[in-house]
Amino acid sequence: MQERLQKILASAGIASRRAAEQIITSGRVKVNGEVVTELGSKADPDKDAITVDGNPVHKQRSKVYILLFKPSGYMTTLKDPEGRPVVTDLLKGVTERVYPVGRLDYNTEGLLLLTNDGEWANRLMHPRHEVEKEYHVRVRGMVTSGQVAMLANGVELDDGMTAPAKVSIIKASDNNTWLSIAIHEGRYRQVRRMCEAVSLSVVRLKRARYGNLDLNGLNPGQYRLLTDIEVQGLL
Ligand code: URA
Repeated sequence: MQERLQKILASAGIASRRAAEQIITSGRVKVNGEVVTELGSKADPDKDAITVDGNPVHKQRSKVYILLFKPSGYMTTLKDPEGRPVVTDLLKGVTERVYPVGRLDYNTEGLLLLTNDGEWANRLMHPRHEVEKEYHVRVRGMVTSGQVAMLANGVELDDGMTAPAKVSIIKASDNNTWLSIAIHEGRYRQVRRMCEAVSLSVVRLKRARYGNLDLNGLNPGQYRLLTDIEVQGLL
């Protein structure tokens, strides 16, 4: 679609509209190789080659932040060499190319964030920033208070001790116990390895919360966009 050049430059984040006008009138802008100095000129940011001082102007993509209820049986990658389903298969209607923020195992379900805002994702995953993540874990049999205390205090894994965690029993039946485990770290298969370290066998693992975000209102496979307040609130 044709738009005024100053609008194209401004929405690409090059300058304010007023400053973009000056850039145009001073002869620094070319459209398809031709200098354009007239302010009313229009171009199509998708089709025309627009440059400022010889540098291409890229249309700024809008930032998207998605909260997905990942079902078990999906890979947290963009493509799986073995052809298994991947989480982005579930994002019908999302035209932006988004990437997962961290990972959930193939057999883990629950809250997964995806975005095309690399800076935001990096900040969330930075160890200094690590947001609290709460997992609900169904394990075989009964769990002793000693096992709860060990998980809470930190257990020795092959990549070192885990940091203190918040651990509680949600409910216990004859065959299984549901535990809540809240951690700030995000090591590979951390919750499964923590449970193994205290001889608990994980039957089901679900991420129920990420910071103050939960899965309320979503069924497995469904997603929603985050609000601006939620996006800022995680940092
Ligand atoms: N911990 C795990 O073991 N697996 C996950 O998918 C997430 C946390």
